[in-house]
Amino acid sequence: MKPRTLPPGFKRVRRNTFIQEVVHDTYKSRSKPVEPTVCPDCGALFHEGRWQRLPAPAQAHRERCPACHRIHDRFPAGYVVLDGEFLNGHRDEVLHLLRHVESRANAEHPLQRIMDISRENSSMVVTTTDPHLARALGEAVHRAYRGKLEFHYNPEQNLLRVHWMR
Ligand SMILES: [Zn+2]
Repeated sequence: MKPRTLPPGFKRVRRNTFIQEVVHDTYKSRSKPVEPTVCPDCGALFHEGRWQRLPAPAQAHRERCPACHRIHDRFPAGYVVLDGEFLNGHRDEVLHLLRHVESRANAEHPLQRIMDISRENSSMVVTTTDPHLARALGEAVHRAYRGKLEFHYNPEQNLLRVHWMR
């Protein structure tokens, strides 16, 4: 795989150690929200220490969740770059897989969302609101189609870059 130039602050991480290194997303929140707090943008409810898909009580506080902050600011927590000849004939199939993984993750973890999927030359670039989803997308593509998979993580920003190539 040809090396890509990474922004400063990224280090290569082994895929099986990544999960332990990722911290809870505190983007735009100095402290934990009071409970219950509902996100006015997506309706997720902060309950028992995490954002969940639950109906909000009428008296719930209102505060934007970290995922909606990231979408609003266009500031992704994860990038998945898919590269290579394989994409030419399989773009729709790969897109379908990505959307499937997203909806499964999102049902359980409302902060895990795809922000955008764009084409850059021969690559496909997927941005996510959460590094765990970027990881899951990369793993799913690798499991389905083999190829090469690499992770780079920036711990200061809790930002993950996944690169897959076939
Ligand atoms: Zn939200």
